[in-house]
Amino acid sequence: MNERFARIRVVYPGLVRLAVLGAVVLGVDYFFGDRAALWFALISFTALLAFHYFYLAVLGAWLENPSLESVPEGSGTWSEVFARLYKTRRTSELNESRLAESEQRFRRTISALPEGIVLVDGQLQIEWCNPVAERHLGISLRADLGLRLTNLVRDPSFVAYLTSASFDNPLMLRPLANPAIALSVQVIEFESVRSIVLTRDITQSERVDAVRRDFVANVSHELRTPLTVVKGFLETLLDGRPPLDPTRERHLQLMLEQANRMSRLVDDLLLLSRLESQETVLAEEDVDVGQLLRELAEEARTLSSQRHAISVEAAPLWIRGSREELRSAFSNLVTNAIRYTSAGGRIWLRWRADGEGAVFEVEDTGIGVAPEHIPRLTERFYRVDKSRSRETGGTGLGLAIVKHVLLRHDARLDVTSELGRGSVFAARFPRTRLITAPDKERLRAA
Ligand code: ADP
Repeated sequence: MNERFARIRVVYPGLVRLAVLGAVVLGVDYFFGDRAALWFALISFTALLAFHYFYLAVLGAWLENPSLESVPEGSGTWSEVFARLYKTRRTSELNESRLAESEQRFRRTISALPEGIVLVDGQLQIEWCNPVAERHLGISLRADLGLRLTNLVRDPSFVAYLTSASFDNPLMLRPLANPAIALSVQVIEFESVRSIVLTRDITQSERVDAVRRDFVANVSHELRTPLTVVKGFLETLLDGRPPLDPTRERHLQLMLEQANRMSRLVDDLLLLSRLESQETVLAEEDVDVGQLLRELAEEARTLSSQRHAISVEAAPLWIRGSREELRSAFSNLVTNAIRYTSAGGRIWLRWRADGEGAVFEVEDTGIGVAPEHIPRLTERFYRVDKSRSRETGGTGLGLAIVKHVLLRHDARLDVTSELGRGSVFAARFPRTRLITAPDKERLRAA
């Protein structure tokens, strides 16, 4: 209804003018004859047309630069048209300024965040970043807009992380541009063609972590010597002549067992702090995992002393990494299978290729783990049943060691288990870590 009135309001002055002109033409015809009326009509319609063309030209010129201040004034129909243009323009300018203001507020808010934020497109070209990100990564929005982030921050681990397909875990980075700070870098993918690179300063927590690690490593190290001395004397006393009375011998035996347990704990703590330390560089050896598996199976058979049936399946696949670390991780999985499987149970050790790369699998028909415990098994000293763990000589650090070794080899631990039926502990390695046996032969030849 309103729209129809609005339309009438625009054409109304024009219609009135036309009606007046028609009446005048009729009047001229009545008083001065047809010829005069024809001329009069021709001249006045031409003038009307010129009037409209003039304002059309004014409108065209304004549209070239449609600012609010320069909206023209018109007469008749055109005054109504220009009034409306003015109103529409004012509303849209108001909306634009509101939008710009809210965008500004949004950017100010993001800029005030303590995290660095870089918005990149599918080619990793910088679309926007906040000042914190500029400081963290040594980039500049003004100078580097549109440039590839990986061309500006050239740390190999950063480039590898950004170009990888998996962003489940953040990257710990000491940027070459600013090695005094430690950054946690996380990529968040959104809109399928854009990503946010989030940087967080973790220098302080890294320092606290390093202090804790050093403390544990130092204490463990300092405990080693006294423990060796105590163990040595206990062994000498137990070996002593003449034979000890049975009670004393039992006491000394118990003391030796506990000293051995402590010694294993100290060794595991030292190994863990070594694995955690950034300074320990991962050895890049060619490891024949099949061979390693056969050695571990032998040890497992000795440990099991015929109580379990142990089978081995090993593919001829090699891995690039540290043989010593892998041995320690796999050995933990194998001894756990024996310790948590009752006599008469079965254990399978498998090393085979799978869709992602290769998998080292230890399956047992043991006591199993309830689902609520599975996510916490790799925490230090997390045990489902403390007394069983201690009875079987566990330190509570085995799976934490496994997790760290695997992390250093870009691998992960998958646990599937059913209470009372058994478990599968699978270490999954990516294809990038694999060297197949024929490759190995070629490497030797080269
Ligand atoms: P622990 O020295 O106590 O065995 P680990 O870190 O090796 O420490 O293992 C953590 C816990 O995970 C164990 O205490 C045990 O409860 C559980 N666990 C590990 N391996 C197995 C397995 N094969 N079957 C059942 N439970 C297991």
